[in-house]
Formats: sequence, structure tokens, C-alpha cells
Amino acid sequence: MASIVENIQRTLTRIREAEDHAGRAPGSVKLLAVSKTRSPDEVREAHSAGLRAFGENYLQDAMTKVEALADLTLEWHFIGPLQSNKTRAVASHFDWVHSVDRLKIAQRLSDQRAPERAPLNLCIQVNISAEGSKSGVAADEVYALAQQILPLPNVALRGLMAIPAADLSEAEQHQAFARMQRLLEQIQPLSPGIDTLSMGMSDDLEAAVAEGATMVRIGTALFGPRRPLN
Ligand SMILES: *Cc1c(COP(=O)(O)O)cnc(C)c1O
Repeated sequence: MASIVENIQRTLTRIREAEDHAGRAPGSVKLLAVSKTRSPDEVREAHSAGLRAFGENYLQDAMTKVEALADLTLEWHFIGPLQSNKTRAVASHFDWVHSVDRLKIAQRLSDQRAPERAPLNLCIQVNISAEGSKSGVAADEVYALAQQILPLPNVALRGLMAIPAADLSEAEQHQAFARMQRLLEQIQPLSPGIDTLSMGMSDDLEAAVAEGATMVRIGTALFGPRRPLN
């Protein structure tokens, strides 16, 4: 099996080729390594190969790593579903939250983020494939939620995140990601700080980069098949 270091090289090459193919500047897309279910040592290995930003879905699993890796300077991104009783830990230990889907969660994160720290970066999660089961706000609710989040003092609204349905054709992936780009353009006039489109995973990063992703969230292609949480 390929090593994490080899997988990182291969993934960075995929991103660079996708940027090039789309006529985008090299380095315009940031790699977020999704380390959910991975061990602290695997994150350490990815860090020694140059990665700094890591995405986590489950608070307990994440906190083990945040504590075990406190000697490293890492950027932690919370990308999983977020319930109210988890916001305090997330506001203290993370740098980004990609999965904001209601005002109440953003308000709690702002209230619980220490004002002397850098603001917590937020993305609104959009239910771009409009499936009943997926989390995220409907496309037509994004603008109003962005307007409500922007005045909150200890958070910074950075953009939008989406996880399109898993069974889309390549053409449908492109359409979903293109809708995200248009939604981002609609909210950008609200604030100059809105600059992030978090979309694209191991299987669809090329389509996401072609349609304007600025951050791709990659797990399997870096760390191999996912492990069950015990
Ligand atoms: C697990 C996960 C990813 C990474 O998916 P891969 O297909 O393993 O690259 C990205 N985003 C979110 C929100 C995830 O939960």
C-alpha cells in the first residue's frame, strides 16, 4: 500500500493539474486533510510531509488528536454535523467550522469563542443536491443566514461548504459545484472576507476545482480506506 507521504504527493499533483486544467493559479486551492478515524501518528506523518490543516467530524475522536498533537502547530477544521452541546469544545479547540446550518449554532460559537483570540472561521453548509437526508441549508436560505451571521463578533463568515449526493454523474457533479460558485458570488457583496468554497473530496476533487473550489477536503486518497470508529 502506498505511504501517506506518497499519497500526499499524488493528491497535490491532482490538485495542481486540476488548477492548471481550469486555468486557475497554482496554489489557489488549499488541501484540507480529513483525518477522522485516523490515529495521532498518522496525522503526525502527514504533518511531517508538510500538511498543516486537518478536518475532523467527531468531537471525541478529534479531541484525542488535538491533545496528543498539542506540540505541533496545526489548523483544526470541524466538518461534521454540529449539535448545540458540542459548540463550546469546538469554539475553543478549532480554527474553522465548515458545517454551520443554522443561526443558533453560529451564535453559540460566537458567544463561546474567547474574544481575545482570532475569530473562528465559519462556512455555511449548503444542501446542494436537495436530498431530504443530508444536512445543510437550502440554497434559497443561504443569503438570509449569511446576513444574520456576519454581525456576530467572534466568528468570521468565510464562505460555503457542500457535500453533493454520492451517486451523481460527472456532469451532475459539475452542475452542483457550479451552483455553489453562483451562491458564493451572491453573498460575496455582503463582506470582503467571504472567500472560501469548501467542496471536493477524494472522488470528485477535479470537478470541484474546475467549478471554483478554494479548499478540497480529502480523506481516503491520503490515508487509505476509512476505519470504523471504536
Ligand atoms: C469524510 C469526509 C470527507 C473526506 O471524504 P473522502 O471521500 O474520504 O475524501 C470530506 N468532507 C466531509 C464533510 C467528510 O465527512
